[in-house]
Amino acid sequence: MKAIYLAPFGIIDEDVMSTLEICIWQIFGYEVKRMSNLADAVSAFDPKTEQYNSTPFLKDLIRRVPKDAEKVLGITNCDLFIPMLSFVFGHAQLNGPVAAISLARLHQKFYHLPENKNLFLHRVMKEAVHELGHTFGLIHCSDARCAMSLSNAIQQVDKKTEELCANCSILFEDINKHIRRGNGMEI
Ligand SMILES: [Zn+2]
Ligand SMILES: [Zn+2]
Repeated sequence: MKAIYLAPFGIIDEDVMSTLEICIWQIFGYEVKRMSNLADAVSAFDPKTEQYNSTPFLKDLIRRVPKDAEKVLGITNCDLFIPMLSFVFGHAQLNGPVAAISLARLHQKFYHLPENKNLFLHRVMKEAVHELGHTFGLIHCSDARCAMSLSNAIQQVDKKTEELCANCSILFEDINKHIRRGNGMEI
């Protein structure tokens, strides 16, 4: 069975990596592996905004997808944007192999508030599940507590949980059955 890989760009805190390993395994049921630290994606850097353009960032990641990877989640401390939006918490290819999350705006200190590690790690899990959900073909969900609900602001991230609602879970299980059949798995 294939794995979901974590791809750290630059130095990512060990707590973030180990929290994601457990969370992704629990939600999606895939073994989680780590890629070695990747150098920052220079070609995606926009000196005007000092952010990464997440589209070339994902393209860069596609070139590095390991053979036994079902999905790869890039993780960066840098802020990400897509043209038209000043920033994104994350970005994914719908039904594609790659997604990325930015940790920059998940810290309380970004909002000039005292740092809160527990809150930060929960935000990281929510965004990781959301973006990986898109790679499995899940779209935005109207349930504000569901990890697949859309977040344009940190308040919306804090309203949701890192879990998929009942509807999204059923959709995921259905999609996953097809993936495993395609991979020649017994189900
Ligand atoms: Zn989304
Ligand atoms: Zn949902």
